[in-house]
Amino acid sequence: MVTREEVLSRFFKIGSGAAAIGAIHILALLLSWYTEANSGAAIYGYVFPEALILSITGGLLAGIGMIAAYFAKRLRLLKLFLGGFTVIGGVLATLSPIYIYAIKLLGLSVNVHLDIGFFAAVFTGVLQLGVGSLALLTPVKEETVPTPPPVVTPPVRPGPPPTAEAARPSRAVTAKIVPAPDLEEAVCSICFEPIPVGEAVRCSNCDAVFHKGCVDTWVSVNGTCPSCKAIIVD
Ligand SMILES: [Zn+2]
Ligand SMILES: [Zn+2]
Repeated sequence: MVTREEVLSRFFKIGSGAAAIGAIHILALLLSWYTEANSGAAIYGYVFPEALILSITGGLLAGIGMIAAYFAKRLRLLKLFLGGFTVIGGVLATLSPIYIYAIKLLGLSVNVHLDIGFFAAVFTGVLQLGVGSLALLTPVKEETVPTPPPVVTPPVRPGPPPTAEAARPSRAVTAKIVPAPDLEEAVCSICFEPIPVGEAVRCSNCDAVFHKGCVDTWVSVNGTCPSCKAIIVD
């Protein structure tokens, strides 16, 4: 059982990872462009604007997915935004360097060697793809709610069986005040007055008999059976 907060934090970890990878991807491509453009041996137009746009768009999509996820109210929608944008961005980011080398440079029939920028760009693109897929694969339960507060029950003391303990006063013993409609000539253990037939109630632990009004007042003040001191629960 996971809470909504846990699922959210999981997604934001994935999202910030994707956004960081997207940023690194853009940086890798720009760095590659910068070194090539300043090496003197660079081919004019080494970095093609369409590939650059592809890469920057791909990198930015991871960030956009993160922002879109921030505004998504439903977990399922959040997952779809974050995963979808990141995966699409990852595809674009991976295609961008491959496009430059495979289509453009090979088309120029020049001797092309793959530099570190190429691998960095491909690597970060694939990484972004993976992170996006991870977001899409992360299970989401729309009904995940914080776990309900545990039912409060006094701790049960280990030791001898309940029969030996029932007669003794013990904080661990609980009881209910239940109707005892069949009792005749009963006397209330609190006020010692007779109880009209059909109006008696008794303690489920010690069978002491009371007026309902008497025991209600007592329990509201003390919380226990006046006879056996068992804790009265609803
Ligand atoms: Zn009474
Ligand atoms: Zn009792």
